[in-house]
Amino acid sequence: MIYLDNNSTTRMADEVFDAMRPFMGEQYGNPSSLHLMGQTARNAVERARAQVAACINANPRNIIFTSGGTEADNLAILGTLEAQPSKRRILTTPVEHVAVRQACGKLATRGYVIDDVRVDRLGRVDPADVERLINDETALAAVMFANNETGVVFPIDRIAAVVASRGVPLHIDTVQAFGKVPINVQSLPCTTLALSAHKIHGPKGVGALYVAPGARLRGQLVGGHQERDLRPGTENVAGIVGFGVAAELAERQREEASEHMTQLRDALEAGILAQVKSAVVLGDTSSRLCNTTNMAFPGIDAEAILIGLSQKGVCASSGSACSSGSLEPSHVLQAMGIDAEVARGAIRFSLSKFTTASEIEMSITVVTEVVRKLASLTA
Ligand code: PLP
Repeated sequence: MIYLDNNSTTRMADEVFDAMRPFMGEQYGNPSSLHLMGQTARNAVERARAQVAACINANPRNIIFTSGGTEADNLAILGTLEAQPSKRRILTTPVEHVAVRQACGKLATRGYVIDDVRVDRLGRVDPADVERLINDETALAAVMFANNETGVVFPIDRIAAVVASRGVPLHIDTVQAFGKVPINVQSLPCTTLALSAHKIHGPKGVGALYVAPGARLRGQLVGGHQERDLRPGTENVAGIVGFGVAAELAERQREEASEHMTQLRDALEAGILAQVKSAVVLGDTSSRLCNTTNMAFPGIDAEAILIGLSQKGVCASSGSACSSGSLEPSHVLQAMGIDAEVARGAIRFSLSKFTTASEIEMSITVVTEVVRKLASLTA
């Protein structure tokens, strides 16, 4: 198989798996136990906390492990608002991941007003629009660093500066950006920041929330005192250990891996565009994650393309959710104002450091064959 769906999840790195193995076997202590086995587990968790913190230049104290990016987003948004209940507006973008969109949706049912900053046809956010929309009633801003469907990277430094100048807490979803672009919380004024392990060759079901010093946040679960009371429950020790190693590897290899992925992504895009004249690239190609391209094949359904690709050994994805037999265009492409006809044929290809040049060559051939065949059927 040729796996070009790395924004969904990535292959675990061998180093990560090796580091996790003892904690799924003989090292099964509970980090809260005072005995030696407990302390071995505690030390492993704290080492991983330091590894993750180092990647974003944070103090390890400010890293709270969670069950993934979704939980980190939920904890940040619901927990921040619970801690300051007097203000009733949330500023966000219409292209956030569903973890953020649905958390805001839940708050809307409790009487909060959601202010969506508009995105343009290239999926960009203008910090001036954030400035216009933010006001004294804004309790929280939640803006992603990079979009999971298009790869578009937002001018988060400028957005964060605007939000900070109004004294409003800012949550940044860095799930897709982490490991691909430098993130430094010392120079990025934010309150919380969501991370996930399985997008960076770590295990699934583990993530983290960076919580800035002094940030006001309420835990959303009740139970023990783990993770500074913000995330009670016995820690997923093996997962956390894997996350630590994955983060350290990602940061160490970031520049080299980014160059590799950019080259291959650009080759894939150019190859497909040269062969399939109707294909278009969606999103701002001048500010984009190194590994992502969202290409649309107007007039052809993404689902049919994905099935065709899968039959020939290529894994990709569409931004569309298939519900009750009808393809709903992605909320991201809809917010960008992409015609439904184009959006229905949008395919996301997302590479990893493991993607090879020969896989890309093969993928260009396969995509061309599949799209030409489907086009001839619908002609
Ligand atoms: N935020 C973004 C931007 C994502 O792409 C994802 C996963 O696709 C998430 C949050 C959720 O992360 P997790 O799968 O770890 O819950």
